[in-house]
Amino acid sequence: MTFLGDSLWDAKIYSSGWKAGRGGTSAAVEPATGDTLASYGVASREDVLDASRAAAAAQKEWAARKPEERAAVLRRAGALWEEHAAELDEWIVRESGGIPAKAGLETHTAANECHEAAALPGLPAGEVLTTNEDRWSFARRRPAGVVSVISPFNFPLILGIRAVAPALALGNAVLLKPDPRTTVCAGVSIMRVFEEAGLPAGLLSLLPGGADVGAALVEAPEVRVIAFTGSTAAGRKIGESAARLLKRAHLELGGNSAMIVLPGADLAKAASAAAFGSFMHQGQICMATGRHLVHEDLYEDYVAALADKARNLPMGDPKSGTVAIGPIIDEGQLQRIDGLVQSAVSAGARLAAGGSVRDGLFYHPTVLADLDDGHDAWSQEIFGPVAPVRSFSTLDEAVKMANDSSYGLSVSILGDVGEAMKLADRLESGKVHINEQTVSDEANSPFGGVKDSGNGGRIGGAAANMEAFTEVQWLTMRPEIAPYPF
Ligand code: NAD
Repeated sequence: MTFLGDSLWDAKIYSSGWKAGRGGTSAAVEPATGDTLASYGVASREDVLDASRAAAAAQKEWAARKPEERAAVLRRAGALWEEHAAELDEWIVRESGGIPAKAGLETHTAANECHEAAALPGLPAGEVLTTNEDRWSFARRRPAGVVSVISPFNFPLILGIRAVAPALALGNAVLLKPDPRTTVCAGVSIMRVFEEAGLPAGLLSLLPGGADVGAALVEAPEVRVIAFTGSTAAGRKIGESAARLLKRAHLELGGNSAMIVLPGADLAKAASAAAFGSFMHQGQICMATGRHLVHEDLYEDYVAALADKARNLPMGDPKSGTVAIGPIIDEGQLQRIDGLVQSAVSAGARLAAGGSVRDGLFYHPTVLADLDDGHDAWSQEIFGPVAPVRSFSTLDEAVKMANDSSYGLSVSILGDVGEAMKLADRLESGKVHINEQTVSDEANSPFGGVKDSGNGGRIGGAAANMEAFTEVQWLTMRPEIAPYPF
């Protein structure tokens, strides 16, 4: 029997055990072939409410457990990702359309997220405060309670586990809703890992479904914190309803990240970084390089070198293990990408490579040059394998162009480190990577964006995760009941 063992979860949700969901069932589909891989259960609003009540009850007992017991569950979960990586990677490849190296990165990071989270229960849980009164005064961190995690399809495992693991480690219960297109590799897999790791029943529920189920995860009365990763449009709706219900919403949203290529940068290395930043996982990454700003001295050579890379990247079914570019997740996304490319070309952009559907859900890696800021392909997040390129002449102009975006997730600067350091101080961005492309994430580092890329929170690293998944309680103590004037 395999680790996932589909007889266990076939057509089921998980809420205090595997069971039928009242929302019916749905199919997990392989984007590269259109084949149906499995059937999973879909939750109803009632399922969410039941799971939320069970979560609130289980959470109290979990929060009271010894820190070392919570840490042990997280350590076992980390080991399970490593032990079953080959099987879980195959699910990521087939269900999300990512190449094996990307799948391997996801399971490796999932293990790291659990190992990092295993350290959280043992960290100081607050501060001893000074006080002007005759007492002791503490600020202590306590679990937030029930946390809802809503994740997207693109790096589905990392973007789910990065919230599930620290939330559980810090004594919370979690309701998890993955994207309907990646429910097995980013939902069933997480559920099975924690089931095998010995997490007590009720603490983690898998509630698959679409936006309606996601809305129920926000509204369930016991939920105190929502950790959402996805589009800015959906994040805005979740933020609005969370604000109405006075809940904390942690929103990690879209991006349109710039790569600034300074005069004198090594052209071959820059083109390689640029191709990775724009074409890795078919550009379906929040931090993908969506805007290339290249110094005018390098511009034409850069466009040619990047176009050459784009034309020569092997594309096909990722499970063959021999391709760099897999399929787009579905037809809707494919049409949106092509629509943005065609409208830019009609408006005068130069197509230096790609610009068409090959077959099925495969889109040729595309390089667009000579855009202006009125083109949607420049100003919007494309979420596809498209590299829009423009030139700049002065560093002031580069800063202005990089900051001229509603988003602020990641910026890359390639070239002279001294100039890059000066630029970094002037950029409106949650992350800046010097002499690297825009896509980077580590379990111990604070991840998040400014402007429309998020609402100010960070995830990753002990400090950010403590902030995200705990509440602070102020506690004072006196040796005797204090005297009062009346
Ligand atoms: P999406 O917002 O459509 O969906 C993401 C998740 O939210 C899915 O599980 C979906 O079912 C759910 N959802 C959608 N509408 C909802 C609603 N009204 N209430 C509750 N849940 C709802 O995102 P997508 O288009 O599938 O994913 C791509 C987007 O995610 C891009 O914009 C990308 O930049 C962003 N993203 C951001 C990060 C980050 O960390 N900042 C990481 C990856 C992806």
